[in-house]
Amino acid sequence: MNILFAASELTPYAKTGGLGDVLAALPAALRGNGHSVSVVLPLYRQLHASLEGLQHTKLAVEVELGEQTLTARIWQAVSRDGVTVFAIERDEFFDRGNLYGANGEDYFDNAARFIFFSKAVVALAENLDPRPEILHANDWQAALIPLIVKSEQLPFKTVLTIHNLAYQGVFPARDFTLTNLPGFYLKPHALEYYGQMNLLKGGILFADAVTTVSPGYAKEILTEQHGCGLDGALMTRREALTGILNGIDAELWNPAKDKWIAAQYDARHLPAKEKNKDALLKFFKLSIGRQPLFGVISRLVEQKGIELILSVAPEILQQGAGLVVLGSGDAQYEAEFKKLAQQYPKQVAVSIGFDEQLAHRIEAGCDIFLMPSRFEPCGLNQFYSMRYGTIPVVHDIGGLGDSVRDGETGLKFRDFNTESFGKAVNTALKLFGDRKKWPVLQIRTMQQDFSWQRRVPEYEKIYQSLV
Ligand code: ADP
Repeated sequence: MNILFAASELTPYAKTGGLGDVLAALPAALRGNGHSVSVVLPLYRQLHASLEGLQHTKLAVEVELGEQTLTARIWQAVSRDGVTVFAIERDEFFDRGNLYGANGEDYFDNAARFIFFSKAVVALAENLDPRPEILHANDWQAALIPLIVKSEQLPFKTVLTIHNLAYQGVFPARDFTLTNLPGFYLKPHALEYYGQMNLLKGGILFADAVTTVSPGYAKEILTEQHGCGLDGALMTRREALTGILNGIDAELWNPAKDKWIAAQYDARHLPAKEKNKDALLKFFKLSIGRQPLFGVISRLVEQKGIELILSVAPEILQQGAGLVVLGSGDAQYEAEFKKLAQQYPKQVAVSIGFDEQLAHRIEAGCDIFLMPSRFEPCGLNQFYSMRYGTIPVVHDIGGLGDSVRDGETGLKFRDFNTESFGKAVNTALKLFGDRKKWPVLQIRTMQQDFSWQRRVPEYEKIYQSLV
C-alpha cells in the first residue's frame, strides 16, 4: 500500500513529545513490511537545520487560505530510517524558534499555520505519482485533512490517529474562513464546538478510520470523564475507532547498544547496569550509597501526575533514596522540584530542559521509574524503562494500564491519589530490598517485546479494510 503520514513532529528533527517518536518509528516499520510510506510535515527551522540531505524539489503547491493564495515549495529528504520525508515550506509560518509557541503561549496564528499545512498536504498528495491511497493524519494539526478530502470528494482514504485527546485545536469561529470550506461545515455535525471551531472534532467525524494509541485509551475516551468534551463525537464513530498500543524504537532504546550510556548491558549482564547508576550519581554529585534511585522524565504538566510525585517524594527521601528528574513545563512544578533539590542536595537532582541523551542515561541509571499520569493515551517512558530494567510504577490508566503487568513487569495503582501511589512506591521499595526477587523482576521486564513490528499488522488491517 501507499501511505502518506501527515504530522507536526518527527523525532529527532522536530519533537516535543511522543508524537514525534511514533512518526519516526511507525512509518519505518510499515516500510520494512514492504509498503510505500512517506511522511510530510511543516518545514520548521529545526527540521531545516537538522535533517541531512533536505532539498527543495521542483514541486510547489498553491493553497487558498481565506482571501490569500499562498504558494508552498515542497522539500524532500530521506530520514535516518529510510523513509521519504516531505516538508512544506512557508517561512512566515514555520521558520520560528519553536513548533507551537513560546514562553508558555501558543503562537497567535496556529489556526492559520496548521490549516495551511493540512491544505498543503492534500495538494501535495494530489501531485504525487504514484498517488498515496491512504492519508494518515495525526492529531489536531493535521485533522482537517479528512474533512478536506470528503468535501472535495478526493480519491484518498483517510485515517486519523489521536495521540492525545486533550489537545484539539480549538479556535475562534472566525478562523473558519481560513478553511475556505462551505459554511455548513461550521455546524455541530462537523467543526462547530460550543460556538468555536474544533479541528480535531472535524477529523474524528470525517476520517474513514480513527485510531488512538492504546486499547485502554480507546475505551476511556468514550466516557464523559476522559472524553475531553468529544466523547459524544467519538461515540458516533465508535465502530470506526480502534486502539493500537504504540511500540518503541527498539534499536534506539537498546541498553545493549546504547552509546549514550556509561556501560552497555542486557538481561544477562545486569550488574553492568550498576555502572550506569554510579555514573549518573557522580554526574549529579549525589551520594545515596546502595539506596534505590528513582527517575522521572516528563513534561512537567498536570497530566503527568506531578503533584503525586511531589507528595510522596519526602517520604522516600527520608528513607535515604535518591531522585533524578528531567523535564520542563509549569513554572510551579519546576520550582517545587528545585526546592526539593535544595532540601536534599545529596539525594535529589533536577534538570530543567529537554535532553535526549540525559533521558537515556536516566533510564539506564535508575532503579525505579515514576509515571503516575492522571491520564495517559499511551506513554513511552514506561516502555523505555522496562527495556532498561528500570521498574516502572504507573497509574493503571490508558496505555500505562495496557503495557505494565502489575507485580510482573512493574507496579500499578488504581486510584489517582497520594495514598495508592505511595503504596505502590512502597511495594517497589520492598521488592528492591529483596535481592532475589528484584533481578528476576528486572529480567522479566527487560524481556518484553514492545517493538513496532508487532503493531504493524494491526495498522495494516485498518488500511486494508479501507482500500
Ligand atoms: P508525551 O508525549 O505526553 O509528552 P510520552 O511518554 O508519550 O509523553 O512521550 C514523551 C517522550 O518525550 C519520550 O520519548 C520521553 O523520553 C521524551 N521526553 C519528555 N520529556 C523529556 C525531556 N525533558 N528530555 C528528554 N526527553 C523527554
